[in-house]
Amino acid sequence: MYQTKTKTKVKTKTIFCVLCWCCLNYLAIKLAEKELLSMASKLLLTFAICRLIVTVGLTMDPTELLRLGVYGQLSVDPSDVQTASLDFGMLSRAEPWAVLHPASADDITRVVKAAYESEAHGFTISARGHGHSINGQAQTSNGVVIQMSGSRGRRLGSSTPAALRPHVYEKERYVDVWGGELWIDVLRSTLEHGLAPKSWTDYLYLSVGGTLSNAGISGQAFHQGPQITNVHELDVVTGKGELLTCSEEQNSGLFHAVLGGLGQFGIITRARISLEPAPKRVRWIRVLYSDFSTFTRDQEYLISLHELPASQKFDYVEGFVIVDEGLINNWRSSFFSPRNPVKITSLGTDGGVLYCLEITKNYDESTADTTDQEVESLLKKLNFIQSSVFTTDLLYVDFLDRVHKAELKLRSKGLWEVPHPWLNLFIPKSRIADFDKGVFKGILGNKTGGPILIYPMNKHKWDNRSSVVTPDEDVFYLVAFLRSALDNGEEMQSLEYLNHQNRQILKFCDEAGIKAKQYLPHYTTQEEWVDHFGDKWGQFYQRKMEFDPRYILATGQRIFKPSFQSSSNMAL
Ligand code: FAD
Repeated sequence: MYQTKTKTKVKTKTIFCVLCWCCLNYLAIKLAEKELLSMASKLLLTFAICRLIVTVGLTMDPTELLRLGVYGQLSVDPSDVQTASLDFGMLSRAEPWAVLHPASADDITRVVKAAYESEAHGFTISARGHGHSINGQAQTSNGVVIQMSGSRGRRLGSSTPAALRPHVYEKERYVDVWGGELWIDVLRSTLEHGLAPKSWTDYLYLSVGGTLSNAGISGQAFHQGPQITNVHELDVVTGKGELLTCSEEQNSGLFHAVLGGLGQFGIITRARISLEPAPKRVRWIRVLYSDFSTFTRDQEYLISLHELPASQKFDYVEGFVIVDEGLINNWRSSFFSPRNPVKITSLGTDGGVLYCLEITKNYDESTADTTDQEVESLLKKLNFIQSSVFTTDLLYVDFLDRVHKAELKLRSKGLWEVPHPWLNLFIPKSRIADFDKGVFKGILGNKTGGPILIYPMNKHKWDNRSSVVTPDEDVFYLVAFLRSALDNGEEMQSLEYLNHQNRQILKFCDEAGIKAKQYLPHYTTQEEWVDHFGDKWGQFYQRKMEFDPRYILATGQRIFKPSFQSSSNMAL
C-alpha cells in the first residue's frame, strides 16, 4: 500500500516535472527567438526551481525555494551549467540542475538546509571553488553546484558586502577570507599590508576552500607545514545547514574534520589564515643530479634543517624528474632554456634519467648583502653536478605566481584546455629508491607527457587530527605526475596510454608493497576509500554521520552515495 502510494507520488511528480519542462522550454525558445533572452532565462530558472521543488518532496511548500531568498543567485544559464559540469581534468562531466552564486554564507545555509530537510528524493550540494579538480570532485548531477569562486562581485558589482572581502589583521598577522577567494587574490590583499601567507601551492588560481579541502602543498611545506596547518579558524556550513565557527578551541571536531576533508563535512565560507612579513625578492636556483640516491640525500638533508633560523636553510625545497630525451624543456622548467640549453645526454645520466633540485632563498633590501653568502654556504654542502647550477632572481610575487606564466603560454598554444590524467602520490622515504627503479627508470620509458615533481616533507609538520592521510613515516615524498593528454596521433601522449601508465604505477606500488597514499585521491568504490583511509576510516565515517548524515555534500568525490543518487559522473 505504502509502495503504491509512493509510486503514484513519484509518478505525479515526474509528470508535473515533464509538463513544466515542456511548457517552459517551449516558451523559452519562443522568447529567445524574439531576443527576449532575459525572460527566457527567467523561465528556465523557474523550471529549475520547479524541478527542485518536485524533487525536494511534498513536505516542502512549492513556494518554499522562492522563500529561501536565493532566487536572484540561482542560475540555470547554460554557460553557468556548462562551466559547473566540467573541471580542469576534463575527464568527467556531470550537469547540475542549477548553479548558486552565493552573496553570503546565509545563502549557502538556506540551500543546504533545504537539501537536508527534504524528503527521501532530495538533492545534493557541491561547493565548487575554481574547478581545478581532475576527476569531477566538485560536480553533481543530482542537485546544485555552489560556485564559490568568482561569485563575489559578479552578481553584486560594487555593492559587494564588506564581510566577503579579505580582511587583514596586521597586528595579529592573519587574514580573514571568503572560502571561494583565489590564493592570488589573498596574496594581493595581504601584500598591501606587507604580509603574506606562509604556505603555498605552486599555482595560485585555486580557491582557499578547494586547497584546504585537500592540504595545499608546495616547497614551503617542509618547514611551514601544508596550508591546512596554517589556519586559525573557519566558518563552515555543515551538511545539516548550520553555520558554525570552528577552531582548535571551538567546535574542534569540525575544524579538524574539514581540513583535508575533501568537502565531506561542510562548506568553508570563511578561513582565517596565518601571515608573515612578505619577502621582497627570491633567489631561485636549480641544480642537476644524475644519481638518484645523491639527489634524495641532499633533498632530505635540506628539509632536516627546518627548525634552523632562516639564514641557515632554504625557504623552498622542491624537485623534478627529467626523463624525456633532448633539451630539458617542459612547462615547469622555462628558465633552463633558451639561454641555458641542457642536453640530458651531455650529463652522463643514470639510466637516462636526471633529477633537478629546486630551491629558493627569500630576501629583501636588508638581507641582500648576506644572501649570496648564505646560498653559497648551503650549496657547498650539496653534491649536484657542478656544471649544472642555474640561478635566477625575481620578485617574491612573480616567483609565487610562476605557474600562471606557464599557463598563459600553454593557453596561447591551445595546450591548457586538454585532458589532464594527473596522478599525485605520497611515497614513504624508505621506498622512494624502489619507486625510482620501478617507475622513473622502468614504467615511464623515455617520454613523460608533462612535469613530474618530487620533493620530501616532514610528517610532524602535518596535524594528524586533520582528515588528510599521509604515509606512516617521518619523511615522505610527493611524486606528482602532471601530464597532459594530446590528441596528436602520438600514442605515448594519448589519454589511453597515460591512463594505462597510471594504472601500472599504482599496480607496481601495490605489488611491491610500497605503502603509497594518493594525494588529491580518486577512487570509485567505498572499499578503495576504506583502504585509503586505513586506521582513519572509522573517524572519517563518524565525522560524516555527525556533520553530513544525509550524504548531501561533495558527492563528486564518490565516497558516500546518497540513497536517491541515480547516476554518478560520466566519463567524457
Ligand atoms: P575545486 O576543484 O573547485 O573543488 C575541489 C574539492 O573541494 C571538491 O570536492 C569541492 O566540493 C571541494 N570544495 C571546493 N570549495 C570548497 C569549500 N569552500 N568548502 C568545502 N569544500 C570545498 N595542489 C597542491 O596542494 N599543491 C599544488 O602545487 C597544486 N598545484 C596545482 C596546479 C594546477 C594547475 C592545478 C589544476 C591543481 C593544482 N593543485 C595543487 C591541486 C589543487 O589544490 C586541488 O585540485 C584543489 O582542490 C583545487 O582547488 P579548486 O578551488 O579548484 O577546487
